[in-house]
Amino acid sequence: MKNINLLARSLAAVWHPCTQMKRHESFPLIPIARAQGTWLYEADGKRYLDAVSSWWVNLFGHGEPRIKAAISLQMDTLEHVMLAGFTHQPVVELSERLAKLSGLGHAFYGSDGASAIEVALKMSVHYWRNQGQAQKNRFIYLENSYHGETAGALSVTDVPVFRDAYAPLVRDNFCVMNPDTRQALAAETASDVAERAIDALVATLEKHHQDIAALILEPLVQGAAGMAMYDLSYLQKARLLCDRYQIHLVCDEIAVGFGRTGSMFAYEQANIKPDFLCLSKGITGGFLPLAVVLSRDEIYAAFYHDDISRAFLHSHSYTGNPLACAAALAVLDIFENDDVIAKNAEKALRWDMVFATLALHPKVRNYRRTGMIWAFDVVGVAPGFAQRFFIAALEQELLLRPIGNTVYFMPPYCLTDAEVRHLLSGTLAALDAVENVISEFVDAVVA
Ligand SMILES: *Cc1c(COP(=O)(O)O)cnc(C)c1O
Repeated sequence: MKNINLLARSLAAVWHPCTQMKRHESFPLIPIARAQGTWLYEADGKRYLDAVSSWWVNLFGHGEPRIKAAISLQMDTLEHVMLAGFTHQPVVELSERLAKLSGLGHAFYGSDGASAIEVALKMSVHYWRNQGQAQKNRFIYLENSYHGETAGALSVTDVPVFRDAYAPLVRDNFCVMNPDTRQALAAETASDVAERAIDALVATLEKHHQDIAALILEPLVQGAAGMAMYDLSYLQKARLLCDRYQIHLVCDEIAVGFGRTGSMFAYEQANIKPDFLCLSKGITGGFLPLAVVLSRDEIYAAFYHDDISRAFLHSHSYTGNPLACAAALAVLDIFENDDVIAKNAEKALRWDMVFATLALHPKVRNYRRTGMIWAFDVVGVAPGFAQRFFIAALEQELLLRPIGNTVYFMPPYCLTDAEVRHLLSGTLAALDAVENVISEFVDAVVA
């Protein structure tokens, strides 16, 4: 039996994120009592396979014992201290290790992903100001990009439903064509599409580069665009253009970092280095909020001065929280000790042979994979597909949350081969269930 009381109390007391609350008149909330590995459990034992890693944050499964132990141990000595004027072992060690992994230095901490984006945008503009180029204060972003919900992040996010209501708060920037491979015309390859997107970028740069501080993008996979995957040549050419036109490259790896695309960071695959790297989500394995911005030493140097107004005076209360840093250190240990990147490469190939069945489904188009992210688009569906599919998937013990008509898997890496088969059969069953709903829908409209 559902805990009706808890659901009513939640609707009365909690304003849930990314939700039209009135919808819950017809769709009940799902009360989760506990989680273990890839599974979320209701109090009565009903369970759901967390195929989207709880909004892309979970890496190694729920309740990962080594992360739990690290947080617990840290709790015994220091839960928090302000980071202005003070420092501590976990934040120093994490910063050193992230620098070693990324080749970028001086980690600046925030909490959620959007706070990292705000930091990177502000740092970029302030860098140019410190260089005597205060007019360089606008950004280029890609079509269908998503960088978070705060006002600065929305100004480089191309999702009208998230943005329109706040138009008066959001600054105008330059939106350019993205390299999403699904835009390929007849004989075009992925790299042809990337080339067309590069042409659009060049056109904007030629016209406006004097006023532009940075280009911001999600390397290899635009998550909220519906797992839009693209050719790495785009990153290589964009990097060269940023150098030529003297603007920063901000890589938002909040979603794709920590192995999701097959390498620790997605930009590595293009053999480039960003000027700013934004990380969050998976960084603590899904245990605690933590975000970080790493940057080139030359950027840090431009703020280092006797004059306080040249300093980066940004801060958040929980900056560099020791518990979150301890969780992140445990995550990095797991990557090393379990050889996660290499193991994932084997898993991805094995699982891809199972999931590829989906490509044969008559309603499926653009079946695709980058590293540990799978996605496909469902054609010929009535409006409201995402919501109906979400509910049909729950019936199959799956947590899947389509974006528009795109269904994707971004599972915790601990998924077992048996769970992979469950995910495939459940997805196929949910697709068929939704199709029935559609035929009923069509019948109703026709009748
Ligand atoms: C989720 C996400 C963000 C925002 O992170 P929050 O923690 O939700 O603020 C920014 N960029 C990308 C690419 C994301 O996927």
